[in-house]
Amino acid sequence: MAGSGDDHLRSAALLSARGLVQTYRSSGGGRVQALSDVSLDIVKGETLGVVGESGSGKSTLARAILALPRPERGEVEIDGEPILKATRQRLQRIRHKLQMVFQDPLSSLNPCHRISDIVEMPLIVANRGSAVERREIVAGTLLSVGLDVEQIGSRRPSELSGGQCQRVSLARSLVLRPEILICDEPVSALDVSVQAQVLNLLEDSKMAYNLTMLFISHDLSVVRGISDRVVVMYLGKICEVGATDEVYFSARHPYTAMLLDSVPTMDPRARSQSVPRGETPSPLNVPPGCRFNTRCSRASSICEVQEPKISKVSGTVDHFVACHHPLPATGATGNRYP
Ligand code: ADP
Ligand code: MG
Repeated sequence: MAGSGDDHLRSAALLSARGLVQTYRSSGGGRVQALSDVSLDIVKGETLGVVGESGSGKSTLARAILALPRPERGEVEIDGEPILKATRQRLQRIRHKLQMVFQDPLSSLNPCHRISDIVEMPLIVANRGSAVERREIVAGTLLSVGLDVEQIGSRRPSELSGGQCQRVSLARSLVLRPEILICDEPVSALDVSVQAQVLNLLEDSKMAYNLTMLFISHDLSVVRGISDRVVVMYLGKICEVGATDEVYFSARHPYTAMLLDSVPTMDPRARSQSVPRGETPSPLNVPPGCRFNTRCSRASSICEVQEPKISKVSGTVDHFVACHHPLPATGATGNRYP
């Protein structure tokens, strides 16, 4: 896996990213290939999940889409408008359509500011409304995420629970009424009991505010519950894309199958049919050919030299895989997901 290409892109997407490349300079002087020719799209109203192990480039992808910073190569279009080549002023305005919810709610909120000021700030920066109008928007948006401005408006983030902070963070993202919400591990820092509440809230907010979502998580079960379509990433590349049920029930990429087999289950018969092989290679020195070949039980000599292209799985409507030796359909392998 870990392939290139854009066969999986559709026409009429609200957000489309093509050929994104981002590398970082490591402290040792090498270059980390965090994002290597990644293309994806999201149609209006859709939730696209992105899964992959830590270090696979998920957060870099989110930041590249927001041009924070602009990626080295590639383009992102919102409603057909290219944003990465936009002037700074234009980019600021386009960014209002795209908002982000981060992993750690507490550290993403300024500890010195009152909650109502934190939520109002994007409106002030965007020069929206009078003071009275802004206060109304803040109160209404906080209410929509289950918080009462009278009760928590004058508190500081440290006086709230993790779940409440993530609600504030969501309200701050919603005040500008964005079209697209990018959630980067939005529940990973929360207790399991609170995770479900925040996920439900995200679903409710998506409906209430007519949102389109990019939802990033290393947690396969969280992504499965919320996503219409899913992208699987490995070492800065896409290996599989498709409708969530299709990918989870009939994974074609050996890496996706390995991830799914690693999900803990109470049923001993269903446990780990393909135990993860070896360590993830260093992103400073990625294997040539398919980046997954060093861990793949199906790898052959072609995988060591030739990067597979993303191509449609025959007989499916919306399932794409970048693999020289994809797995057979579920009928032959059985359902992977516990
Ligand atoms: P994920 O979100 O999937 O865990 P990231 O996008 O954070 O992955 O990171 C992808 C790769 O880029 C990792 O190898 C990570 O160590 C590296 N990386 C991320 N940010 C930086 C940075 N600012 N400087 C150097 N390397 C980075
Ligand atoms: Mg991350």
